[in-house]
Amino acid sequence: MVVAIALLIVSLAATAWSVQCIRRSESAPGRTAFGLALLSNIWWVSTTMAQILSPSVEGKILASEIAWFGNTSAPLFWCISLHAYVSGRAKESAAVLVGVALFAFCAMVAALTNDYHHGIYSHFGVVEKSYGVQVIYYHGWLFWTIIAIAYMALISGVLVSLWAARYASSLHRRQFIGLLIAVTLPWVFNALWISTGFTIWGVDPEPFGFIATGAILGFVFGHDRLFAVAPIADAVLFEAIPDAVLAIDGLGRVLELNPAARALPGMAKEPIGGLLAGPAELVESLRLSAAVDMAAQEFTVAANGKSYELIRRKLPGRGTANSLVILRDVTDSLAVREELIAKSAELQKRLDENEELQRQLRHLADHDHMTGLFNRGFAQRVLPNLIAARSAAGRTAAVVLIDLDHFKIVNDQHGHHVGDDVLRIFADILRSRSNEDELAFRYGGEEFLVFLPDIGAEAAVRRCAEWRERLRNARIPSAPGLTAAFSAGIAVMPDAGRVKEQLVRAADVALYRAKISGRDRVVVWGEHTGTMTNSGSENWPADVSGAA
Ligand code: GH3
Ligand code: MG
Ligand code: MG
Repeated sequence: MVVAIALLIVSLAATAWSVQCIRRSESAPGRTAFGLALLSNIWWVSTTMAQILSPSVEGKILASEIAWFGNTSAPLFWCISLHAYVSGRAKESAAVLVGVALFAFCAMVAALTNDYHHGIYSHFGVVEKSYGVQVIYYHGWLFWTIIAIAYMALISGVLVSLWAARYASSLHRRQFIGLLIAVTLPWVFNALWISTGFTIWGVDPEPFGFIATGAILGFVFGHDRLFAVAPIADAVLFEAIPDAVLAIDGLGRVLELNPAARALPGMAKEPIGGLLAGPAELVESLRLSAAVDMAAQEFTVAANGKSYELIRRKLPGRGTANSLVILRDVTDSLAVREELIAKSAELQKRLDENEELQRQLRHLADHDHMTGLFNRGFAQRVLPNLIAARSAAGRTAAVVLIDLDHFKIVNDQHGHHVGDDVLRIFADILRSRSNEDELAFRYGGEEFLVFLPDIGAEAAVRRCAEWRERLRNARIPSAPGLTAAFSAGIAVMPDAGRVKEQLVRAADVALYRAKISGRDRVVVWGEHTGTMTNSGSENWPADVSGAA
């Protein structure tokens, strides 16, 4: 008896501790049902103690009948509490709680009126034990019905806790496991009682299981303070996070959303349960994200001018079509990105300009600005290698030096601008190459050098004849009727030399020959002056002075 009273006190103390913990956890989901479950349990434990303490069989039976309020309501309240806790709902429905209390009250009334229907207990047996009389209860149909309901509630509570524990974070999981152990203990005792007749002091051992439950829960909640903290932290985060967060089902209906999501333009006033209404860009982006298997999307909402990144995650558990949608406002970072792109485009433009400038500089360095032909400097740079390479390969080439005849007179008689025009027109003639490797240089004022690869003396003379012909026929717009002419000296490799200097000098000697032999002609350098080939007209200076 002393032990029983001590147990009652321990049970009350454990329960009081648990209630205290719950009172502190103000907005813990399931807290009301949890408190009610504890109170129901006190009812149950107290009436069980009364059974033990009662000396008479009638007293024991009466106490066991009054116990029915507690033993019916306790498991149901447990179940509601677990469901509320796992789903994170802030408040349990008051109607459901009142309904459970009414149901438990009816169960107690049924037990108290058992004599009239024998639904709870079919009959009783009495045995003498060392600690006194023990009543053996034989159960009726109503007993099994209520027990079945209680077990279903228990099983659903266990399942939902297991489900939650599977997806919970590690801290959270510890809590769920604590809850599970705590909740399962009384039912293990109950199952033992029903199946094997196991008793403690001759009564249903289940309430003693609940004493352990109270102690375990008291420890879990009191020690870890997690019961409230984790779900509350989740809820606070959900409410406070600046990202819009929505849970939607496979049909596009809104299951849950946070204030940031409610604030999106075009969102319905009461969006939960309805199809996602707005903004249109979000609806379209969601359709796309489903099509491309949840890949992140970016879209801009015209109504508020903001850009969002859409991240979509499948929600675990029943119906994998449910998903969590997170909309991150990326307007600012997009602006920064665009600014960076613009800056890098500007930089690229400058680099391009720089490159163009360098190209122009290189062109200027290599070209004569008036005629556009290569200049003498470039000739000095490229010709030696070009000639050396050809010589090494045993191939031939000709160097032609050209000097316009009596150019001073052209300038003097027609003006410098006409002289310039003649230079440009002659440059155009030289530019129309017969061969890709043919190179024309403005070598001096009115002197030109042409490099003719893979050509012998005869072909070079023919090429010069073409130029002479074209120059003779050229119409100079600034001085119609003016006819210009040139003299040329040709040096052919390898007869005239194998290096640039030798070839240019030889061509110069031949040019000099052409000049002194009367101009308007072409002379090929030969080893002996006598072998030089003259090609030209002897009617100089009539050609030049013709237009004067
Ligand atoms: P020759 O038949 O002996 O070559 O007589 P020439 O008058 O052509 O020879 P000279 O060396 O006496 O004169 C060359 C002239 O070419 C002098 C110079 O004014 C002119 N000249 C050189 N460069 C340019 C130029 O860029 N533009 C113009 N208009 N004349 C130039
Ligand atoms: Mg000259
Ligand atoms: Mg000249």
